[in-house]
Amino acid sequence: MGKKTNLLTFLIFLGLVLGVVVGHYFLWDVDASLEVREQSVAAWKTMGDLVFVRPLQLLIIPLVFTSVLTGITSIGDPKRLGLLGGATIIFYVVTMVLAVVLGVSLGALFQPGAGFPEELRASMSAAGAEVAKSVAPAEGGGLSGAWLSILHQMIPRNFFQAAVNGQALSIITATIFLGIGIVSIGEKAEPFTKAVESLHEVLMTLVQWVIWVMPLGVFLLVAWAVGKIGLSTLAEAVATYVAVVIGGLGFHMFVTLPIALLIFTRINPYRYMWRMRAALLTAFGTSSSMATLPVTIETASEEAGCSKRAAGLVLPLGATVNMDGTALYQGIAVIFLFQAFGIDLSFTEYLAIVLTATLAAVGAAGVPGGSIATILIIIAAVNSTLAVSGEGAPQLPLAAIGLILPVDRFLDMCRTMVNVWGDSVGARIITRLAPDEEEEREAAYA
Ligand code: ASP
Repeated sequence: MGKKTNLLTFLIFLGLVLGVVVGHYFLWDVDASLEVREQSVAAWKTMGDLVFVRPLQLLIIPLVFTSVLTGITSIGDPKRLGLLGGATIIFYVVTMVLAVVLGVSLGALFQPGAGFPEELRASMSAAGAEVAKSVAPAEGGGLSGAWLSILHQMIPRNFFQAAVNGQALSIITATIFLGIGIVSIGEKAEPFTKAVESLHEVLMTLVQWVIWVMPLGVFLLVAWAVGKIGLSTLAEAVATYVAVVIGGLGFHMFVTLPIALLIFTRINPYRYMWRMRAALLTAFGTSSSMATLPVTIETASEEAGCSKRAAGLVLPLGATVNMDGTALYQGIAVIFLFQAFGIDLSFTEYLAIVLTATLAAVGAAGVPGGSIATILIIIAAVNSTLAVSGEGAPQLPLAAIGLILPVDRFLDMCRTMVNVWGDSVGARIITRLAPDEEEEREAAYA
């Protein structure tokens, strides 16, 4: 770790602390009308987006393309590629299921929604009705709609349209297809492969530049997030809910995933976590695993001992489909809502939540608030399970999500950090299956 990295870390933490202080005391706790306050708070988000989030977003699609393609061409052998892909997917599914099961168990155990005040319930769900309408999933809704949407993304009709729409999953599958074609014609494709590799290096340099804006970006975005809701909101009706989500995320981040990392790599998980701090803090600041992806790839391969091949392949896939924090969060959030509306759930409904929340986490977009739309799918699935159990069974209105919206940004920051940590652990484990050349391999084990 050079002096430069230490300086950057110091600046990022400074941005974080200043963001909380400025957000709470200068944006939230001020004597101004609600309208004026909302406007001035929104300006901070606009600035944060301009200096930090948009430059990162600009790099995502080209970087997904170059990193997946260089990953595939450097591995070459299709059999090895299959092994790697299989191991990555198994790892992602298992860790997500573990996360949801933990979330559902905590929700059932601590009952964060029990006894939720009725008057608050009515006013908060009024606000949720609008949001529920605006984020209702496209493809017909429901579980089959969610599946179809994932399949459509995986098999895009038009590469450029997918790129324009920022559909990373489509770019990944199309690039894998292209990569296998390149590998199969061998030498003739070399000029193209070289050009892509060189573009990849250039993009990574741009990412390193953007990382230096991170302290400012984190400062602006955290000030906005805190300024919008104020610190004290967290201590009101939803306090137990917030505490249970944070507890669950903390357990998954500091216990479950480190144990997996230790078992498969024998490296010190917490040292690895520290090395990945730039990516984890970017995730916290931006609430978007997609926007964080350039930083995750850079940090994993340059600072934290992941092989370029593994990082290049595993991380883009992870940012789109692997969301441990989101899976866990959705489990607790849905249970909280049913409890707050006094609807009892049995084992069958819990099972439905585990299954749909895992799928929903795969389908959720890696953008701020990406899981709000997918939570609606889970609610609908639980409602239909309840309906099967008998005539006149109670149903949860979709507008109920109004109850969790006020604290969603804060929990989003935390769950996104866990999402990115899950991807990073995957990349480090897969590095064992796909190390770079000899000396890099040694560095990776150091
Ligand atoms: N913001 C999350 C992410 O980008 C998705 C979500 O849970 O809303 O990973």
